[in-house]
This record gives sequence, structure tokens and C-alpha cells, in this order.
Amino acid sequence: MDNQNRHTPHTYNSNTREPRRRGMKPAHKSFLIWHVLVAGYFLFNAFTKGDQIVHDLNIIDLSHVFDNTTIYWVTEPTLKLNVTYNGTIPEKNYWYQKEEISAATHGGTHLDAPCHFARGQWCVSDIPLTHLVVPAVVVDISAEVDGNPDVHLSSNHLIEWEKIHGHIPDRSLLLIYTGWSRFWPHPLNYTGTEERDKSQLKFPSIQPEAASWLVANRKIVGIGLDSMSVDIPNSSFPGTHVTLMEKNIYALENVNNLQLMPPTGATVFVMPMKLKGASGAPCRIFAQLPGSMTSGGSGYITFGSSFALVLAVVVGLILAKI
Ligand SMILES: [Zn+2]
Repeated sequence: MDNQNRHTPHTYNSNTREPRRRGMKPAHKSFLIWHVLVAGYFLFNAFTKGDQIVHDLNIIDLSHVFDNTTIYWVTEPTLKLNVTYNGTIPEKNYWYQKEEISAATHGGTHLDAPCHFARGQWCVSDIPLTHLVVPAVVVDISAEVDGNPDVHLSSNHLIEWEKIHGHIPDRSLLLIYTGWSRFWPHPLNYTGTEERDKSQLKFPSIQPEAASWLVANRKIVGIGLDSMSVDIPNSSFPGTHVTLMEKNIYALENVNNLQLMPPTGATVFVMPMKLKGASGAPCRIFAQLPGSMTSGGSGYITFGSSFALVLAVVVGLILAKI
């Protein structure tokens, strides 16, 4: 190295082993580090589906969005959402938008009320809030399903789950995670048919014997899953619906984001449109996990966010050494 560089700032002299003089002013460096920290935090959360999560409240959205591609039961009319006006009102100079919708009740993320398959049982508006804001347990059969539409929840799955997590609590909502929501809203992959042909429907579901075991042994208020129906298409339909609904147990179909849920500990809020006398309704569902960001509680999201923060700090420190 040229000796003339010895007294030149911002260069490294190999002879004297002087500490490296960095090219960035301290103020600039700390500005950069803070940006890396913040960007790292948000990037990590984005890659872990942070868009589905309201971090401050530890809330996960379990509903699919409703639009003109939303999947409905194949014999039912789909959603039509037509914007009938959007524009500035002439001479009054304010913006105005309105629209009209029409749809069947059984489509998208929705609730099946017990009166869907059991005469005299609760219809949508009859279900009390005490059955709609409830603790949830999640049984994960996604590894066994692994994209195979012929794998369905059995009582054995429930018995095995209980060996690890304990009894499914009374007055809880049982959610079955099959992994099928990743195919939403692709009709062929999600339903087995692009033709809306009932005879070609294929997706993972719930065996009637699992429903029989549940009503005989446990006291759940509702059941839900991330595929199109709680009954196996073209097989035992509607055995699971009937067994559950005769006991006033409701069902949630086309649930989303169950991969983000812990097996136990979440509280789920099931919010169907309050349609009087209806057997089904579109439904907003969300889960609140135990703990919160602000209170420093534990939970999947808190863990993910803490990990993101640690990762961002490490990257920031490495950068500071450069
Ligand atoms: Zn339904």
C-alpha cells in the first residue's frame, strides 16, 4: 500500500494495523442502522403473513375476502357485487360510491346454522353470542392430507390430538386445518371441478363417525374447516351436517389462515350477518391469541415479532461493523 495513504482518512494501513476508519459519519450510520432495524422487522412480518395479523391486538383474520371470484356451493348462485355509482356528484363536489349485492347464503367463508339440516334448530339469528365468541381448538391434519382430497378427519385424529393437548373443552369451537385454503380461490384445485359439477367435487372433510364421536363424547358449540363442506362430497353427505346440527352445533366452511393458529388458547369471534330465519350467512371470523404485543404476553405472533426484532438487531449490528 502507498505510504502516502497513511495519513489519509478513511483508508486502511496494513503496516501499522491501525483500526479501519469507516467511511460513514456516525450520524449517517445510526440513521442507516435504524432504517435496517425497522425494515427488517416489517419485512419479517410480511414474510410470515403479517398482512393477516393485527399485531397490536394479536388478532388473526380467518375469513376469505368476498368478491366476484368467491367460491359458492356448486348448485348455488355466486356473489354479484355491482358498483352502481362512483364519482363526484355534479355541482355538489363530493365523492359518492354505492353498490348492490346478490348471492346465495352458502358460499365463501360462511356459517351453516343448525336449521340447515335439522328442523326446529337454531337459524343464524338464533345463535347466541355465547356460542359465537368462544375458545377454539385446532386439529391439524394438513401433513396427512398433503394435498390429497381423500383424507378426512376421523375420531382417531381427535383421540390422538387429545393425548397431546387434553380434552376438547366444553363450549369450544373445533377447527380442522387441512391445508386446503392454499388452493383458494382456484375452482379446480379447491373444489375438484371447474364445471361446478356436484359429481366431481373433491376435498378433505369430516367423516360422519368423527361427528358421532364428538356429539357422544364432547360438548362443542361449533365446528369449522378450511375446505368447502363439513361433509365428504359424493360419499356420506349429509351425514356429518345432520349429526352435528341435530345437537344445535353450527359449522363454518371455507375458513382461512388456520396455519397461523395455535392448537389451543385462542378465542374466536364468529360474526355472521344476522339474517333472521336463514340457514346460512356470510361470516367474518377472527381469532385473538393469548397475550398481546403491548402487554408482552406470549403467543405465536409475539414470538414471531420478537424473533423479527432480534433478527433485525443482529443485521443492524453486523452492518455497524462494516
Ligand atoms: Zn354451508
